[in-house]
Amino acid sequence: MAGQSAGDRLVNWYGGVVEKNLLTRPDFVHSWLMLGFQAMRAKVHLAPYSDLLPSGNHGYQLFMDSVVGALADFGNAVVTSIFTPNEIFHALGVRPVTAEAVASFASGAQAEGGFISAAEGRGIPETYCSYHRILMGMATSGVLGRPRMLASCSVACDANNLTFKTLGRFWGIPHVYLDVPYDVSRDSALYVADELREMAKVAEEASSCKLDESRLREICACSERTMHALAASLPTRRGRYLANTMTIDMMEMLDLHLSLGLPKCEELAHEMQQDFLAAPPYEGVNLVWAHVSPYFLESLGRLVNTSKTAQIAASDMMFEYLPEGDAWFDATNPYEFMAERLVRNCFNGPATRRADCIERLARETDADAVVLFCHWGCKQTAGAAQLIRRQLEGAGWPVLVLDGDACDRANCMEGQMTTRFSAFLEMVDKRGRKAGHE
Ligand code: SF4
Repeated sequence: MAGQSAGDRLVNWYGGVVEKNLLTRPDFVHSWLMLGFQAMRAKVHLAPYSDLLPSGNHGYQLFMDSVVGALADFGNAVVTSIFTPNEIFHALGVRPVTAEAVASFASGAQAEGGFISAAEGRGIPETYCSYHRILMGMATSGVLGRPRMLASCSVACDANNLTFKTLGRFWGIPHVYLDVPYDVSRDSALYVADELREMAKVAEEASSCKLDESRLREICACSERTMHALAASLPTRRGRYLANTMTIDMMEMLDLHLSLGLPKCEELAHEMQQDFLAAPPYEGVNLVWAHVSPYFLESLGRLVNTSKTAQIAASDMMFEYLPEGDAWFDATNPYEFMAERLVRNCFNGPATRRADCIERLARETDADAVVLFCHWGCKQTAGAAQLIRRQLEGAGWPVLVLDGDACDRANCMEGQMTTRFSAFLEMVDKRGRKAGHE
């Protein structure tokens, strides 16, 4: 406990109460967690962070509103996987919430340990992705009630399928699985469009509501505008001080999936552009961050959170469907629009597509280096890591492959990770940034 701040000790105690009561009083644990989440939500609205840009604070607020809102009314929510399109749910007035967001809330409350133990106690292997172990622990311990339905897709991983299938049986609710063909083609998109039409029918039934197709088209048109604005924000990030943190980057990434299609999300993408254009120059190391981040590791965070040493200029989870050349999606056919986005997601198909996306992000933001975070249990990222590293290094960017866990703090070797990260940043700084990839 020595060296911990008062705030950290308080959250530690708060998470300890969850752990102590988890097995015997799941309803109390639910209320206890909601109390903390609502307090955090109020805090970010009433006292925004002075060191963040307006878009950073608005991204934080939008994230708290959408996730706390969904958890507070969980019986009307749909639990999705991160890349499952949500426009159908927004059109039906059902709140989507994703496994990564729920698990991040639990780990933000320092309560992940109890949920992970609960999941492992039910036979979930410790090698399974921690996001999913936390979600399973929260569900099977009775802390999370029963949502309306579950919706997942095969991009980016198998864990989605296994977890969602199991939870569908456990809760006795509908589960729709979008099987996205590996082949990135128009035929694949048409196939997924049909799957999405089926998903819409299941969602209509689960929500006892008729889908208004013109509303769905409006929402998809908003998604398209948001995606344009977000892509246009890439060059505005070049050499500018973005005043962000690992937490803010993750939250904005989740906003741009959970709330895509809603006006607040479109406003956020435009505001990012405006903020970055007006931001002062940045002299530190600009990074492209690949995959999720261990936002709770303080010593690692100090190097990159509103820091003069380094910053995250872009992350591949936020920009996983960048347009290719002039091609763009046609939102007038909502099902094909959502399907094209999913099929063209850089996490679909061979790992070279993900490497190409990261390279493009590095080029467009004029980044100095790339960090690839290998999250515990994520076989997809672990399997692609060396290929991505080779491609990016071949194109002139230094790459650090950092192993850790983005939601289980007990599974991170903080000291060792920070030493490696710090040495990497020093090396990038010394060797002269932007060498070899102009
Ligand atoms: S971290 Fe990897 S294994 Fe876990 S949900 Fe994401 S893609 Fe799947």
